[in-house]
Amino acid sequence: MIKNTSKLMLLACVTALLMSCNLQETTPVNVTNYKCRIMSDRNDSPVGEEVNKLVDGDVYSKYLTFNSSASIQFTTLKKCKLSSYSLVSGGDAEERDPMICVLEASNDKKTWQEIDRQKDLQFSGRNQKLSFPVSANENYKYYRLQLESNGNDILQLSEVELLAAWDNNDNTPIALFKAENRAFFTKGLVEFNNLSVQADAYHWYFKGGKPETSTAKNPKVKYESFGKYPVQLIAENKGLKDTIILNDYVNVKRKGGWNQFSYPKINFVNKTLGGNGDLYTELVPNPKELINTVCLDVCKILYRSVDEIDVLNVLDYSIEDLETISAKGGNPPHINIFFSSLYLKNKKGEMSNKDLVDEIVGVLYHELAHGYQYSPKGAGAYAGGSDFFGFLEGIADYVRLKAGYSSYEYRKVGGHWNDGYKTSAFFIDWLHTKDPDFVYKLNQTAKTIIPWSWDAATHKIFDQSTQSLWDEYQAYLIANK
Ligand SMILES: [Zn+2]
Repeated sequence: MIKNTSKLMLLACVTALLMSCNLQETTPVNVTNYKCRIMSDRNDSPVGEEVNKLVDGDVYSKYLTFNSSASIQFTTLKKCKLSSYSLVSGGDAEERDPMICVLEASNDKKTWQEIDRQKDLQFSGRNQKLSFPVSANENYKYYRLQLESNGNDILQLSEVELLAAWDNNDNTPIALFKAENRAFFTKGLVEFNNLSVQADAYHWYFKGGKPETSTAKNPKVKYESFGKYPVQLIAENKGLKDTIILNDYVNVKRKGGWNQFSYPKINFVNKTLGGNGDLYTELVPNPKELINTVCLDVCKILYRSVDEIDVLNVLDYSIEDLETISAKGGNPPHINIFFSSLYLKNKKGEMSNKDLVDEIVGVLYHELAHGYQYSPKGAGAYAGGSDFFGFLEGIADYVRLKAGYSSYEYRKVGGHWNDGYKTSAFFIDWLHTKDPDFVYKLNQTAKTIIPWSWDAATHKIFDQSTQSLWDEYQAYLIANK
């Protein structure tokens, strides 16, 4: 009896020891992943390139400022001891890379301790990481990175990682979780991966899920009805608590749902009224109605559900006298498109009014396809011949063709699938003879294949190289000339 008790006691001690080991968490982790707050003294970033992109875990997004220097401050969730840090270069324009970086640390944001200084940063390429070991012997709550370019007046960087061990005198837990497959059609099972630190009890809340609550460490939850649902986790450790709530974390999509399509707010301006712009007004008396119709139609070509679309909230559309026919700028939720009234005027003599309207509508399909299509990551810059260019311009012209505003008369032998525009569009069109859902699947690969390439996409969809498909397509064109 006594023997048994001591055995139990021993077991209890071992369990307690193991638990205290688990709770110490002295292995360095990237603390920017743990609800780290970040701010910059430069707040002039374009939409989508804000400072928080430095810690979003995506090397294909970046922070950009129109300054030659920036001071970036990190507030970690708890004090931690730094062992190394990393910088990842942006995806383009190497002259915007920082050249000098100084890393400082503080616990009061008044006195800063220099931890490291690098004077001649040389990244080996785009989206490349440079890591620097440091020997900090204190725990700090605040870190500050002073960056300076090589005289260039634009500075950019895609990621910053701070590898540090949490202060083991502080037992406050950190609640954190992740789930891989959390967007699906109709219904699905979400497997939650608990990444909490220094916690020994968990309380989960799954609105819209089955079960609706759980105390398991890594619960599996069923979702069976359409909607976007929040997930909440409270991590606990002897009365100390931390909570995380991620809104719209689980996305159960419906098929179709086109009656719920969200039209953008259109800011239409004809800047050349009284001049060449009068012709546009004569040809398109109701531009907003036309733009709305094309928005919906483009999405129906590219998507199977309204819930898949990166919503476009604002569309600035202007008519101007410019040399280029048309172009699109910005990214959802806010884009701008211009159309040239000068081009329209120059074409007036050679085209009928109906053909002029068709040209306006066709160009609009092309530019709005840019507004709604997904953007592939790691596929090169927007430059002729890159996979990125071939994907964007090929799909945009395919959408125009599919809508009935192009002609097979333009299809000819030769070229390359990355030439973009009609050459890529007709190839994409021909690939529908192998898979009627091709453009939908192709656009989806921009989210699932990172880094993206034509070859990876065609292997995924057809289990075939792009070159062999292109060769087959060329043979078809020659046989059907
Ligand atoms: Zn284009």
